[in-house]
Amino acid sequence: MSTSNVSNLVKANAVKPIYSITPFTLLDYPDKTACIVWFAGCNMRCLYCYNPDIVLGKGKLSFQDLILFLKSRVNLLDGVVLSGGECTLQKNLFQLIQEIKKLGLLVKIDTNGSNPKTLALLIKEKLLDYVALDFKAPHEKFKYITKVDYYSQFIATLKLLIASAIPFEVRTTYHSSLLALTELQQMIAILEKHDYRGVYYIQNFRNDTRTLSAVANSEPNTINNAVLKANFKVALRNF
Ligand code: SF4
Repeated sequence: MSTSNVSNLVKANAVKPIYSITPFTLLDYPDKTACIVWFAGCNMRCLYCYNPDIVLGKGKLSFQDLILFLKSRVNLLDGVVLSGGECTLQKNLFQLIQEIKKLGLLVKIDTNGSNPKTLALLIKEKLLDYVALDFKAPHEKFKYITKVDYYSQFIATLKLLIASAIPFEVRTTYHSSLLALTELQQMIAILEKHDYRGVYYIQNFRNDTRTLSAVANSEPNTINNAVLKANFKVALRNF
């Protein structure tokens, strides 16, 4: 670690932005072993969010704690997933990723797409190896589901990733009471309009999970039986 980066991270150590670390996953970074870093705090309040404690709670671990943990896992993991919450809101994220990369680890971020300026800089500095971008809803539904109007930021993020060489995926959490099939088809049309060529993952809402707001159970069969038309691959997860 360079002297200036040590100094920045020591300063950052005064704050504890990380809620927790999942030490090992085979599911969250495609074809890689990884750990997941859960950053506290988010600028959205999605009705179905599974992580109310992370979104509303305070962090417990510093960047230095994370680096120490990663040093003990260097030969055991391929990469690190920066998730949350919304990881792009974190101060000193650039220095943190630089330190992670010095350990030879790949970096994936999970983002709600609300922060295209930070993402553009991360891409420019070649700090990212993979991005998972949430597509919450079409414009008319976006604020209803997320409680904020960041649709234009989402579109800017989508365009940025499509124009970049970074491998990425777009994914939507599907809840039958919150998104109609016609709205999902509308979202597919939006991705087509922007020339998305990757896989679009539609993730089944997990009933009986504690969520940020009270939501009724979802009816997954509504989508199991649906015919969604797209000029790219649509994959259902957890149905
Ligand atoms: S689901 Fe929504 S509120 Fe929860 S972490 Fe993701 S963007 Fe934030």
